[in-house]
Amino acid sequence: MIKIESVDIPKELQNEIKDYFKPKTVEKTKGKRKPRTKKDKVYEKVKDYIFKKPQEINEIIKRMGTVNGDKEINDVYDGFKIKIQAFYFDILKLRVCPYCNETPIYYIENSSKNYQNFEFDHIMPKDKYPYLALSLYNLVPVCKYCNSKKGNKEGLPNIYLDEIMYNYNIIPRDDGDFINLEDFKIIKRNLLNADNLDKLLHLENRYNLSLHKEYLVNLLKKIEYYNKDRIDDLLDSGLFSTKDEILNRVFEEIRIIANDSNKPRHKLTRDILEQFKVLGIIENYY
Ligand SMILES: [Zn+2]
Repeated sequence: MIKIESVDIPKELQNEIKDYFKPKTVEKTKGKRKPRTKKDKVYEKVKDYIFKKPQEINEIIKRMGTVNGDKEINDVYDGFKIKIQAFYFDILKLRVCPYCNETPIYYIENSSKNYQNFEFDHIMPKDKYPYLALSLYNLVPVCKYCNSKKGNKEGLPNIYLDEIMYNYNIIPRDDGDFINLEDFKIIKRNLLNADNLDKLLHLENRYNLSLHKEYLVNLLKKIEYYNKDRIDDLLDSGLFSTKDEILNRVFEEIRIIANDSNKPRHKLTRDILEQFKVLGIIENYY
């Protein structure tokens, strides 16, 4: 889980949302005002909370507590979500699920039909905090797996607000080494606010899939092979003129992943590089 640095909601999106909820011209039928629509009623209930900052949302929760779910709000949320999802996703600039850092997320605009592979998680679930159902900072685009597992539960840190600290490490099983998939496992050490991540998102289990372990095996083989002696030999060979040139060639892809939190496995990669004490070399060589 990687904290999202807070972003400002641009005026354009604010205006689009206000426009979306603008009451249609009130028609008079037989001298009486037409009853307000469901959308109008829901807007009255939630309008003060839509643009509240994460910290302000916490204060509102302290004041309002939990209340019963609200079917009307849920119905209106469905339309609201379709209205804002592309814009809000674009503002957050996420390219990978911020909960698992495993699955790429994207939105594709197409002339016939738009498509997205993320869903919005309500940090504070809408069946207990319906008044926050449309609050942008209560919404996080996440992968379908994370959303289905987290569902309407509470207990994750607030991704817009909380520092979340944990490390992935790999440890050998018995006398195993790190080159065979069955001989090691990835463990997650929780440091701060991270205790519920496994319960709700199964992060440790997911990162122990062979898909990720194969990636680590390749990474570790490279680190082992391109040790100081090998790099000196390559320099002596005259094929490369600087150490940076060699490292750049060999570790380019890993460097990109280690330096960009929007790449899948960014956190796993950094943590393992750190465990093997090569993060600084790979991060900074260019
Ligand atoms: Zn995810």
